[in-house]
Amino acid sequence: MDIVLNAIGRLSKEKIKIELPNHKILQYDIPKKIQISSCFFRTGVCIRCGLCCKKIKPNLYWFLDEEYNQLPDKVREKLDIIKIKVNGLERDIYEYKNCDLIDDNNLCSVHHIKPIECALLPIFIDQNKYLFTYLRKRKRGRFKIFGCNMYFTEFDEEAFKEWDLVYLEKLNKIAKYLGVKTFLPEIIEELKKSVKNKSINNNILIWETKKK
Ligand code: SF4
Ligand code: SF4
Repeated sequence: MDIVLNAIGRLSKEKIKIELPNHKILQYDIPKKIQISSCFFRTGVCIRCGLCCKKIKPNLYWFLDEEYNQLPDKVREKLDIIKIKVNGLERDIYEYKNCDLIDDNNLCSVHHIKPIECALLPIFIDQNKYLFTYLRKRKRGRFKIFGCNMYFTEFDEEAFKEWDLVYLEKLNKIAKYLGVKTFLPEIIEELKKSVKNKSINNNILIWETKKK
């Protein structure tokens, strides 16, 4: 869940404090700069070795009722509801412990409605100590440590529209559900413009605080 909350927090237009059920607290300041790196415009190809899902068996989280409604019964039956607080506002999240949803062919059996944390990869929303946020795609796919051999190809416009943009829109919906205003609408708009104008080889500055 931290990957999703970090992504939202690092793109937030306001300060955020998130209280998790295990008493962990996540805090985010407004970023001083947000940039989409040119490496965002490449296409990751997963070779479906299944290593990452099988070795990690991560806990899965769905945030929206519209997602819950699309989940198969076998998944719904095993869901718990956990509560988090975002700037004091309590929100319910669906939790599925220890993912066992990979099938015998190493395919995700909930691919069409997989949790946003799985769907966003290899997108990575990174932030440095100066509060500069960068949207990138990880160089080595999902988890290098497990020998991930995902590889990257040249930009695939259809895949970008049908996957990356769709899941960034979903991240935007999740941020709204959590009551957080983010720069995601501006980011999505700029990405659409860049694809339309075929200007995908440059870094794109979304926001920067004015220098004094
Ligand atoms: S939901 Fe699918 S992609 Fe995510 S860890 Fe489970 S099997 Fe892998
Ligand atoms: S380890 Fe990498 S290549 Fe293998 S299934 Fe996971 S993301 Fe795909």
